[in-house]
Amino acid sequence: MSRQEAIILPFTRVEKRSRVYATRRCPACGAPSPQRSTGTRQLRDLGVGRPVALEIHYSKHRCPRCQKYFNAPMDDLAEPGGLYTQRVRTTALAKVLVDGLPLGTVQEQMLREFYVHVPPTTLDRWVVEAGEKDRPEGVL
Ligand SMILES: [Zn+2]
Repeated sequence: MSRQEAIILPFTRVEKRSRVYATRRCPACGAPSPQRSTGTRQLRDLGVGRPVALEIHYSKHRCPRCQKYFNAPMDDLAEPGGLYTQRVRTTALAKVLVDGLPLGTVQEQMLREFYVHVPPTTLDRWVVEAGEKDRPEGVL
């Protein structure tokens, strides 16, 4: 999977975060749902002086009413399945959409300023997704 191949730079400082809950409400039906297990994911973050990665320890839940499996909410930290924090995404997107910089330049600046490697293919996907979110429904 190419998305798993995001480069982890040497000298990365790993900061641990916890999103572990005993119980969460089911996002589908609202029923209190006990923790079934836990998982860990790593997110590349904006670095200060050196690369930073967040290691998120999170709980996995199963709804007793509708049997739906779900993870502790962390959309504020990262997109579902994403390898980068929202801070990285919004900072890079601003360089493209507000500053109008080409993707190659944004990649260089993110690496130089924040020690985070964001490939142009990922930047391109973020730009497309941002455009789709802002686009009114039914307009192509
Ligand atoms: Zn449910």
